[in-house]
This record gives sequence, C-alpha cells and structure tokens, in this order.
Amino acid sequence: MRCPFCQFPDNRVLESRSAESGQSVRRRRECLQCERRFTTYERIEFVPIVVIKRNGDRESFDRSKVLRGIMRACEKTGVSPVELENLVDEIEAELQQRTVREVPSYEIGELILQRLQTVNEVAYIRFASVYRQFRGIRDFVDTLNHLQSTATASADSAINEFIAQEGERETSTPSILH
Ligand SMILES: [Zn+2]
Repeated sequence: MRCPFCQFPDNRVLESRSAESGQSVRRRRECLQCERRFTTYERIEFVPIVVIKRNGDRESFDRSKVLRGIMRACEKTGVSPVELENLVDEIEAELQQRTVREVPSYEIGELILQRLQTVNEVAYIRFASVYRQFRGIRDFVDTLNHLQSTATASADSAINEFIAQEGERETSTPSILH
C-alpha cells in the first residue's frame, strides 16, 4: 500500500481495529519516508455471483433457491437441516472463490450432485433425475451405474428405497435449474 502523499511503498501499522460491526479492519498507518499518517480498510471481497440459466437469462445467485432444491431432494431421507445449510454454504463458498463471476446453472447442479452423493444416495438419485431431466430408462440406469461404481454397498438399498418412494412423490423441478 503506497503512501497517498509521497507514494513510498513501505509503512508501519500504528493501530488495527475492527470496524463496520466486524465487517472490516481499520488500520492506521505511518509512511516510513514522509511520516505522514493515513487509514486503510480491509474487508472480505464479496462479489455477487451471476447464474446463467438454461435459456440464457442471467440472474443473481440465490442461496434460498439452491436450498429449496436440495430440501426437496432430501425429503424423508433423514438429512438434517444443519447438513442442508452446510451443503449450501460449501457450494456458495466454492462459487465465491472462483475468479469467474458468472456460472452456468448446470455447474451449480453438478456441485450439488457431487455433495449429495456423499450425503445421501436417495437424495442424489432424486436430484439427478430432475436436474439431468432423465429422458428415459437409459439415463436412469446410467446414473444408477455411476452411483454403484462410486458409492458404498448401501447404494442398492438406497435405490430400492428411491423407487418405492417415487410413487408417492409429486415430481417437480428445482426452480434454480430453469
Ligand atoms: Zn509518505
């Protein structure tokens, strides 16, 4: 940080304290050359994430939409609300750390799938079935095969449970993906 008066690159920090209700750190500095004092603020960069939808429209990332989509897939699976929130936090944090601010909705879908696979297999298949818009039994079988080749031995029972529950469940598409 160059001195605003003489442009000298080095300074020393006289004082650091929390500012803006803990959202930033205020530092009082003294230039090592001209000895004049100036103040800097340091805060976490938070840039809005833009989602590119399938139809090409853009909208700001909305974590409540992601949460709703995941909640629907996790209905009656015993996944706790805290786990759901953590999942959304992880996805949001990952998107925040990217250098590109625009993300296609299908990439968010894939991030959700990656995590659901380790959290709950039923939820994984449900989400995949809606999100990947299965066009027939072939897509469904492909996803099951993928799950069985990568997941634990409990995949079989998860799949059976999924098929049993599908009959009762109203099929709807997570709104984030459209
Ligand atoms: Zn200076």
